[in-house]
Amino acid sequence: MPKYIFCTGGVVSSVGKGVTAAAIGRILKARGVKVAIQKLDPYLNVDPGTMSPYQHGEVFVTADGAETDLDLGHYERFIDNDLDRTCNVTTGQIYSEVINKERRGDYLGGTIQVIPHITNEIKRRIGLVGQNTDADVVIVEVGGTVGDIEGQPFLEALRQLRTDVGRDNTLYVHVTFLPHIGATGELKTKPTQHSVRELRSIGIQPQVIVARADAPVSQDLQGKIALFCDVDSRAVIPLETTDNIYAVPLILEDCGLGEYVVEKLQLGVQHAPELSEWREMVGQMRQVNTPVRIAIVGKYVELHDAYMSVKEALSHAAVYHNHKLEIEWIYSGDLEKGKGWNLLEQVNGIVVPGGFGDRGIEGKILTAQFARTRKVPYLGLCLGMQVMCVEFTRNVLGLEEANSTEFETSCKHPVIDLMPDQLHVSNMGGTMRLGSYPCVLTPGTKAAAAYQAEVVHERHRHRFEFSNRYREMFEAAGACFSGISPDGRLVEITELVDHPFMLGSQFHPEFLSRPNRPHPLFRDFIQAATQFEPADQPTLQFDAEI
Ligand code: GLN
Repeated sequence: MPKYIFCTGGVVSSVGKGVTAAAIGRILKARGVKVAIQKLDPYLNVDPGTMSPYQHGEVFVTADGAETDLDLGHYERFIDNDLDRTCNVTTGQIYSEVINKERRGDYLGGTIQVIPHITNEIKRRIGLVGQNTDADVVIVEVGGTVGDIEGQPFLEALRQLRTDVGRDNTLYVHVTFLPHIGATGELKTKPTQHSVRELRSIGIQPQVIVARADAPVSQDLQGKIALFCDVDSRAVIPLETTDNIYAVPLILEDCGLGEYVVEKLQLGVQHAPELSEWREMVGQMRQVNTPVRIAIVGKYVELHDAYMSVKEALSHAAVYHNHKLEIEWIYSGDLEKGKGWNLLEQVNGIVVPGGFGDRGIEGKILTAQFARTRKVPYLGLCLGMQVMCVEFTRNVLGLEEANSTEFETSCKHPVIDLMPDQLHVSNMGGTMRLGSYPCVLTPGTKAAAAYQAEVVHERHRHRFEFSNRYREMFEAAGACFSGISPDGRLVEITELVDHPFMLGSQFHPEFLSRPNRPHPLFRDFIQAATQFEPADQPTLQFDAEI
């Protein structure tokens, strides 16, 4: 049976609880401990797949096809293990399960209540992570902040688990925030004390407090937190805001958290922590200073979290090539109005990421045209491949009325069309083509050169696909399908032959990039970008007006 670390958050949300949980995972993995991480989300949606990215940020897709919280992306990037659908649980899932059972008659005669029925279901879901993996330690992060009404059943379940699995097998970590009062230049511990009191009132005494702050947390303050919150003084871990999330495992380790966890959970560790490569990696991230400017042209650019994995994958690849990533966020709707083209003219590469719905779509198609005609390195991710194909059909094949049927149901040239198995789908949640599928690479292409493999597995989240009716025309006009599903039916990667790097994938390679192992497509895209000088291409005129 695994041991458990429960991570709760206090004072305010967005203090980096997900990164802290992921970082604890990393410092345990560095000792040879096998870890898995689970996120409990208190909202009523069954999963974030149906939420707007403005509400929730990116939807992270697991290999087994679950649409999950973006924190799972942090977990995978830090611990470098694939997680599965058991690793994200929502209140929506818990209630649907219990209510379905009730309707089936599983509890005939009983009154169904939050305690014990909902809490038992929560505990069952926590147990599933342990069963599906051979993890020695399962880290469970509770979304939201202690004191939220909807988080209470989760906290009650965590409280009960201390008795169920034993005190020596559980560790409660509370991540809080120390506000900085500008006038006096002080950090305040009072909100942390209140939040610990709140936790205690539901029966949980935190054993570790990670104190996040925007200024250094002095020894005095650490002592004060230890005294008032009743934790060991070495278990108060100061975590000042850092320029680089990958530095967090090193900060926690250097404050002794790894040793403390090992001691408290009585973990039989394999060896001393091996973090030297990670340390080197963070050192290199801090050293790079030659910029590589990449435009992300999308619809949710005001909220960078909506493109979390894309942003991370780009930065992993940039560091690999000894460059510092600079992102130019461009709203594709602005391009339609003739705004923002000057920004696009200054970048070394363009990414059109995934997306849904027609807002700003013409701006993305124009972006693909700009990249093709000016030979700017271009990486299209899912929708980004689809718009690249629409643009090619319109402007190279000369079929002006080309579109995706997502945006124009009865267009004359539906080069992107609904997948046949989506025709009868009526529920919106969890019904896309989701998760990892194999893709066979075409020898001699840029994709094959990047991966150095014949078959790869990549994660998907889409309903539309390239229409095979246009395949021959594309190939005759200078495009090439460098990745195809093993049955030969589905186009997975499209690239242009006579272009330094214009490639789109129907899947989302960003989910597989790791800080110490950039994804091959991102790596080669950034390589091309570092060789592209925007000023070299001034002669091609581009008409931005539509
Ligand atoms: N909306 C497109 C589709 O469903 C693209 C999806 C995506 O970019 N993830 O196929």
